[in-house]
Amino acid sequence: PRGSIPLTAPERQDAGASTSYASARTFDELPISQYTKDGLKKAKYITLTAIQRAALPHALCGRDILGAAKTGSGKTLAFLIPLVEKLYRLKWTKLDGMGALVLTPTRELAVQIFEQLQKVGHFHDLSAGLLIGGKNVKEEALRVGAMNILVCTPGRLLQHMDETPGFDTSSLQTLVLDEADRILDMGFAATLDAIVANLPRQRQTMLFSATQTKSVRDLARLSLTDPEYLAVHAEA
Ligand code: ADP
Ligand code: MG
Repeated sequence: PRGSIPLTAPERQDAGASTSYASARTFDELPISQYTKDGLKKAKYITLTAIQRAALPHALCGRDILGAAKTGSGKTLAFLIPLVEKLYRLKWTKLDGMGALVLTPTRELAVQIFEQLQKVGHFHDLSAGLLIGGKNVKEEALRVGAMNILVCTPGRLLQHMDETPGFDTSSLQTLVLDEADRILDMGFAATLDAIVANLPRQRQTMLFSATQTKSVRDLARLSLTDPEYLAVHAEA
């Protein structure tokens, strides 16, 4: 089922007009793998939400994005689909180590993201894990090295970076900072700085935040390269 995927990028100034998929309304119209399409279909995801329409054309061609949209607008798929597609295009295997990291403020949100990741990734051959505290850190440490995609809370991730021998982030392709404003409100600014400092600079970063505070702008400056700014308001 592996079809070829067009990699042409939409124009930055006018994402709407330049390519057909920039105006895709359904997941089937996107230039993504059949594996991802089948996973989405199985989970009954058919039509893109507004933030997904805004973000996916840019994110799928590898750009950094800074996204804002209210709770419940579908931000999770807006970052999970590009993250999985990037590893698929790179022919990532379980032996290639950590390819993507998703940071989110709470365990509950991490579990919800992980559940959507299991749907998107259902037909792919990638491994994924949760690092959210509340479990035995030594047991986690034995498994983290084998994970291609990790969904984490910041404190627990930094603990593994500091303490787990062989925890290797050098092959990272994609970093997601979900609900960045809430992460910062919870006092994790220094933890985030330390995490980002440990990661390869050459990577795609997607940052989502409901509000644009000074600390979010500081984090964006530190973590994003030439980002696309995407905001979707009420009627989303
Ligand atoms: P956010 O992170 O913006 O608060 P989520 O990504 O958690 O929102 O999505 C909110 C809910 O909408 C979830 O239950 C999710 O499964 C559902 N959802 C997301 N995208 C779609 C879509 N394209 N079609 C149908 N349901 C969707
Ligand atoms: Mg969310």
